[in-house]
Amino acid sequence: MGLLSHGSPLGWEETKKYADHVRKHGILQFLNIYNKVKDRQKDVLKWGDEVEYMLVEMDIKNEKVHIVLNGGEVLETLQDKGEKTDPNHPTLWRPEYGSYMLEGTPGQPYGGDMSVFNTVEDNMGKRRREASSVLNEKETLLTITSFPRLGCPGFTQPGYLPTPVERGVSKSLFFPDEAINRHPRFSTLTRNIRHRRGEKVVINVPIFKDKNTPSPFVEKFPEDDGEAAAAALPDHIYMDAMGFGMGNCCLQVTFQACSIDEARYLYDQLATFCPIVMALSAASPFYRGYVSDIDCRWGVISASVDDRTQEERGLKPLKNNKYRIFKSRYDSIDSYLSSCGEKYNDIDLTIDEEIYKQLLSAGIDKLLAQHIAHLFIRDPLSLFEEKINLDDENESDHFENIQSTNWQTMRFKPPPPNSDIGWRVEFRPMEVQLTDFENSAYVCFIVLLTRVILSYKLDFLIPLSKVDENMKVAQKRNAVQEGMFYFRKDIFKGCNPVLDGTSSAHNGLEIDGGNEEYTLMSIDTIINGKEGVFQGLIPILNCYLENMEVDVDTRCTILNYLKLIKKRASGSLMTMAKWMRVFVADHPEYKQDSVITDKINYDLLLRCDRIAKGEERCPELIGDPINRFK
Ligand code: GLU
Ligand code: MG
Repeated sequence: MGLLSHGSPLGWEETKKYADHVRKHGILQFLNIYNKVKDRQKDVLKWGDEVEYMLVEMDIKNEKVHIVLNGGEVLETLQDKGEKTDPNHPTLWRPEYGSYMLEGTPGQPYGGDMSVFNTVEDNMGKRRREASSVLNEKETLLTITSFPRLGCPGFTQPGYLPTPVERGVSKSLFFPDEAINRHPRFSTLTRNIRHRRGEKVVINVPIFKDKNTPSPFVEKFPEDDGEAAAAALPDHIYMDAMGFGMGNCCLQVTFQACSIDEARYLYDQLATFCPIVMALSAASPFYRGYVSDIDCRWGVISASVDDRTQEERGLKPLKNNKYRIFKSRYDSIDSYLSSCGEKYNDIDLTIDEEIYKQLLSAGIDKLLAQHIAHLFIRDPLSLFEEKINLDDENESDHFENIQSTNWQTMRFKPPPPNSDIGWRVEFRPMEVQLTDFENSAYVCFIVLLTRVILSYKLDFLIPLSKVDENMKVAQKRNAVQEGMFYFRKDIFKGCNPVLDGTSSAHNGLEIDGGNEEYTLMSIDTIINGKEGVFQGLIPILNCYLENMEVDVDTRCTILNYLKLIKKRASGSLMTMAKWMRVFVADHPEYKQDSVITDKINYDLLLRCDRIAKGEERCPELIGDPINRFK
């Protein structure tokens, strides 16, 4: 989840004093990088996936499942046995927000060859087996997006009570500080977000109203000092800690582009897919032991790290703060970066004017300058005393400090100083899937999509405000079947962003007229196509694949992956969110009251574990793929 430093973390009051210092040097660090590598061309396509995992323990005797807070030790063991022993080790392990979480990536990035699609699942399998091999027999590693009873009494192993008082890190009524990763970065972020905001974070998720759910649904919180009662909305599941959001898992893909222009083009194009693919990957319907009315984690994480003050959120006139800020630090992107995207930038963009001017006068173009000047309206959230004065020529920690705490749907990543890494973009909206097969399918789908976008010079851009509307729809219950999404009608009629930004084909003014360039489509239409409306992404990918040299085996793997995406989009296979809802609704202990009991949670996750390990089939979720990677 970003930059890790060692040393003594500063509290919010101290960090605040250095905010301008961090921004000033962050910008200098960015400019140094930019000037050194702006003209780099011909970097080759490389890419990699990131999978986030949860450690859980099955208590067979009591039929309970807990999350296990020993991620730190597990990580150390995995790193000792892996990368520290062999620099070519096939897997890499990194810490994540929860002390029950891990993040795993392939040891080396994948190259541009088609045959790598045949190795992705194998590598994910290696990761799962490698991590499982260092756990005890009660423990297991799950790739679930949200733990259904996160924050319920006794949900951790070992058990801890929350610390709902000022000296606590989260001050949460539900989420114990011990469930936060022990590296000081994570608790510092948590506490500093709360202090900067001036109150605890507030997450209200609409509850799914079942037959016996109390109406209105209102909870009482005995240990509350008044903050929860004021913040909790009726008919909502209330949560009050960063862990409820950043304690969720996702699936990300990072691409290295051949040049900065190609990276900017990909960033924009992929941004339009974020809501679509998020809805297709929906996997998180349950929060704090209740069935919710949303299927995706996005809004929950967004609220969980929302460090904006009341002034910045527009609840009070600006007095002590500089800007009205429209979104949380974890949210969808606010501006396109490529020249083709410029005319679709229709979202109010708050920027740091001084930084913007400084970047322009240093020779950065308007679009990139405003992107950086927008990221830099944020304050640093964690700073280490030993890391205040840096060598701006050769280090980039201050730039990364701000960059890596802007958690947006897409991330545009300049190369690290003095490295042979190129310009990269990260695709961040996907929810993690239960099995390596599904995770590989989603990852390969996105990678293939970038291949066709670049090969056919496709253009999926629509006004960014419409992408934001899509983000809202995407999180709703069953959006994949019921949601309608703005999508571009003619994707072959774009400008050529990599060569120039001045295409004649595109008439941007059309977007304001009656004859818009986009229309509302279902995910089925977008993915599978519909006569007279849209060709469909899968048919376009198939056409691309037919023209590529692909060995039979790889082809077969890819077809299986695309089949999953196709069927999820058409509804003939369920999303994880839907499947979990059905499991709970059919559970004998479920009382149609939106409550996920310990026993329901146990049975659900036991089933999940068996499916993920290939011990049980689940045709309604994943079809019947042949597992060739065991
Ligand atoms: N776990 C976060 C999510 O679900 C992402 C953290 C990260 O940036 O690695 O989106
Ligand atoms: Mg991560």
